[in-house]
Amino acid sequence: MLINQEDYGKVDLVLKTNMDDKFQVRINKEKCLGCGTCAALMPEAFEMDSEGKSTVKPNQKSSDEMLMVAKSCPTGAIEIYDEADKKVWPE
Ligand code: SF4
Repeated sequence: MLINQEDYGKVDLVLKTNMDDKFQVRINKEKCLGCGTCAALMPEAFEMDSEGKSTVKPNQKSSDEMLMVAKSCPTGAIEIYDEADKKVWPE
């Protein structure tokens, strides 16, 4: 399921991972410092955009792997939502 970005204002991103097609990962661009940690840890799933902010790439990572990287973000900018669109990380 793709996210209607209009519903999320400044929360950019849309993602798509295999994550059982239940979970979604979004980058909160306002919180992203552009440190590059996520892209360094998992270049298959994260990359930096032209403005120096992280974006999520289509990938086949598991929800556990994505959560591991999300937890490494110093600002909690990597947000994970369940299929009910409830934010499960950061808690
Ligand atoms: S780890 Fe967090 S703050 Fe750093 S680039 Fe990734 S999303 Fe942005």
